Amino acid sequence: MASATDSRYGQKESSDQNFDYMFKILIIGNSSVGKTSFLFRYADDSFTPAFVSTVGIDFKVKTIYRNDKRIKLQIWDTAGQERYRTITTAYYRGAMGFILMYDITNEESFNAVQDWSTQIKTYSWDNAQVLLVGNKCDMEDERVVSSERGRQLADHLGFEFFEASAKDNINVKQTFERLVDVICEKMSESLDTADPAVTGAKQGPQLSEQQAPPHQDCAC
Ligand code: GDP
Ligand code: MG
Repeated sequence: MASATDSRYGQKESSDQNFDYMFKILIIGNSSVGKTSFLFRYADDSFTPAFVSTVGIDFKVKTIYRNDKRIKLQIWDTAGQERYRTITTAYYRGAMGFILMYDITNEESFNAVQDWSTQIKTYSWDNAQVLLVGNKCDMEDERVVSSERGRQLADHLGFEFFEASAKDNINVKQTFERLVDVICEKMSESLDTADPAVTGAKQGPQLSEQQAPPHQDCAC
């Protein structure tokens, strides 16, 4: 799949405006669960075993194609604020999708999922979609959170669930693509019922920077 950030597929698009939809996606969860690694794996296909300093990183952009639509993903990393739970409400603004991450070898990070979910529900747009991801599934020997518990919590919260590994590149791309698909599904549902939150009559995130006509169906 071609991407704006992957040099193997040729030059970066000459114009960043060249897309059908733009989705803002946030990766949240406790410190050290692997958020930055997950983003680097997806956007750059790289993994750095050393602790990655998040300071200074805002977001990465990746353009993907889903059903003939060019979708620009703006994926935000928390830049270390999660350490102190000082993530500002501005950070949540306009987000259409969340990857809520815990580490399967860290019970505390799993216990924090409920809190993060509450933050999402408090600060984000009602229709924002969330995927729960148990990262570091390559570390089976050190696992303390079973897949079953992960799945049960996801069911309870109404989120879809993946176990993944940024290190071994397991389910990383799948996670983002599934999130994009559920955003698209939600979007076309909302457009069908002419939800004013989506069509722009109410304050909500921009579906596209290109000002698509309000009742255009999402063909994703
Ligand atoms: P963040 O604080 O959530 O952004 O976490 P980082 O991406 O900085 O990762 C924290 C530590 O976990 C680093 O040492 C990473 O190399 C390591 N790490 C991240 N993802 C994985 C993974 O999937 N498997 C393993 N074994 N280690 C990982
Ligand atoms: Mg980080």
